[in-house]
Amino acid sequence: MRPIRGFGAAALITTVLAITVATPAQANIPARVAALQSALKSLHLYSGFVDGVRGPLTRHGIRAFQRRRGLHVDGILGPETRRALGWRGRPGLGSRIMRYADKGWDVAALQFLLQRAGHGPGRADGLFGPLTRAAVLRAQEADGIRVDGLAGPETIRALRTGGGGDNGTAATPTGPVRFLRPVPGPIGSPFGAPRNGYTHTGVDFPEPEGTPIRAAGVGTVIYAAYNGGGYGNLVVIQHRLGYTSWYGHMSRIAAHVGESVTGGTLIGYVGQTGDATGPHVHFEVRHYDTPINPVPLLLNAVASSAPGQAGGIAPEECLGHWRPTRRPPRGSDWIGRERLCR
Ligand SMILES: [Zn+2]
Repeated sequence: MRPIRGFGAAALITTVLAITVATPAQANIPARVAALQSALKSLHLYSGFVDGVRGPLTRHGIRAFQRRRGLHVDGILGPETRRALGWRGRPGLGSRIMRYADKGWDVAALQFLLQRAGHGPGRADGLFGPLTRAAVLRAQEADGIRVDGLAGPETIRALRTGGGGDNGTAATPTGPVRFLRPVPGPIGSPFGAPRNGYTHTGVDFPEPEGTPIRAAGVGTVIYAAYNGGGYGNLVVIQHRLGYTSWYGHMSRIAAHVGESVTGGTLIGYVGQTGDATGPHVHFEVRHYDTPINPVPLLLNAVASSAPGQAGGIAPEECLGHWRPTRRPPRGSDWIGRERLCR
């Protein structure tokens, strides 16, 4: 019996230590979970979205990884499991100044914080590429700190206290996310309408071909290209707190990836590209990649260009340099596999 009791005591001490160590880093927990999810996703052991919430899918992923690597299977992210993740398991967030071409655990955590604040980059893959650098620059500008594209302690602090609402004093708004209507007309086909054994993932606004479509709120364009899953010419905007808004079937796209938009920014024109039987906007809202009914979040107001902001409306002739079928940038290919109905 003695060795078994000894083992139990050791396990207890380990648990107590783990709790003690975790406490000062409390504010980091969603970012830590997100970095873990990102690592598991790259190993095809996690199919959910990188949302920073440790749910059953995440625990299942840790177990599967531990089993694969012959580790003790407890579903807990201990030092041994973290080490086994290789470069995806290190270094910790805040232990270095992250810059272009860096990769690792901290980069994935940074990308999660950037997305939560609505700055892009569109996904958390642990690789500090051009989209991530652009997102860091946007965040630094928005938070009024030095704009250098380097993600050090100041940037991390601003992101943690800013858009996410981890612990209060925010430079960026932390209220609930609400959306303006992207076009003036009423809603035709509602959310969840049956479509050949699937359900509709958004709402449809029937509008005449060529009607300007405007961004429903503040955010960053993370996709602006043709989509083969039925959306046709599609623009996706990343907002705060894990929300994205999707605008499908455009005749013409008038936005580019990495563009910062506010409610009312012109992003395209109504059309019927993709799976559409007539001109309309397919408007979809997702929360951490799950399509939700946008109606409760919709304001009565229609997005319009701000008075005196002539840049809001550009004549179509001026948009010749936007190629609607331009290739999606690296890192946004996941949208190409998405379907209009689920
Ligand atoms: Zn639709």
